[in-house]
Amino acid sequence: MTLSELKIDKGWTLFLDRDGVINLHYPNDYVKSWDEFYFLEGTLDALTELAKVFRRILIVTNQQGVGRGLMTHDDLEFIHNEMLKEVRKHGGRIHAIYTATELVANDTKQMRKPNIGMAKRAKKDFPEIDFAKSIMVGDSISDMEFGRNAGMITVFIGEPTKPTSEQRSLIDNYCESLSVFAQTVSHSV
Ligand SMILES: [Mg+2]
Repeated sequence: MTLSELKIDKGWTLFLDRDGVINLHYPNDYVKSWDEFYFLEGTLDALTELAKVFRRILIVTNQQGVGRGLMTHDDLEFIHNEMLKEVRKHGGRIHAIYTATELVANDTKQMRKPNIGMAKRAKKDFPEIDFAKSIMVGDSISDMEFGRNAGMITVFIGEPTKPTSEQRSLIDNYCESLSVFAQTVSHSV
């Protein structure tokens, strides 16, 4: 179903990936400090628009840089607090940020996307979340798998590089940016 056909109301939840959706993604590297965090163009306005559409907006982000010792949990928390301050200043809101910080090998609780540990945690915190009325927005195939595994509608930001047909089948919708996604769903409400 296309985004404009969805009847999105306040019963819906928005799950957002962080790097490459909200802020600049460094290929093969991590945002390790607030100095390295750059909001993508139009993101803050998009988050403000999206706050009017969705009851809850949650971030689900793999941050293995912590497990690798490239930053600490405190560093990550500091980045997120600063990010939330900026979002709030612009009239947006994010209700919770879920992070998967373990190394792949240590991820015994299956928190890392494409596993759905972070979705389960969100559901525990906000029991009213209905995954069938949830949208996962991300810029990687693992985000799409995560959304699919949890039973959400998936939105890919940008274009996947050389996707297989199986990967394509994980993607319900494409949007150029979070801004475009926000405009699309705002108009459908
Ligand atoms: Mg990403």
